[in-house]
Amino acid sequence: MCMNDCIFCKIIAGEIPSSKIYEDQNSFAFLDITPINPGHTLLIPKKHSRNIFDTDDEVLKQLAPKIKKLSTAIRDGVGADGINIQINNEPIAGQVVFHIHIHIIPRFENDGIKPWKGKEYDKGEMEEISNKIKIHI
Ligand code: 5GP
Ligand code: ZN
Repeated sequence: MCMNDCIFCKIIAGEIPSSKIYEDQNSFAFLDITPINPGHTLLIPKKHSRNIFDTDDEVLKQLAPKIKKLSTAIRDGVGADGINIQINNEPIAGQVVFHIHIHIIPRFENDGIKPWKGKEYDKGEMEEISNKIKIHI
């Protein structure tokens, strides 16, 4: 189940120390070592997978309520005004550690973190793009 060279599998196994926030049969959560804000937490399944593309539906189902539980605890614990939840999938999207992990990031008024800036679609492009995606579902 675990990959020998995976840093997050080693954290689950206790071979690398971490600031553990939560653990159950299927999941593990710990503070990110370089937080965007204090309380920035990583939630991971114990079953190793690379990212969203190869993670079992069953694993994702188990994680969903934990995202809510941890988001609420982080918000209340650090007095956050809001929470961002993010998964980076593949290097172009910012993934550096290849064991799927959900970033749960507390946000504060005036924390200086800028949201992504939206682009605009050309005329007709939205329908074209939506059709390209829908045929794969
Ligand atoms: P990614 O960019 O892959 O979505 O995020 C990886 C995250 O893992 C980064 O935010 C990084 O700070 C965190 N990280 C990497 N190595 C360690 C570690 O050894 N311990 C902890 N607690 N966090 C780590
Ligand atoms: Zn792993």
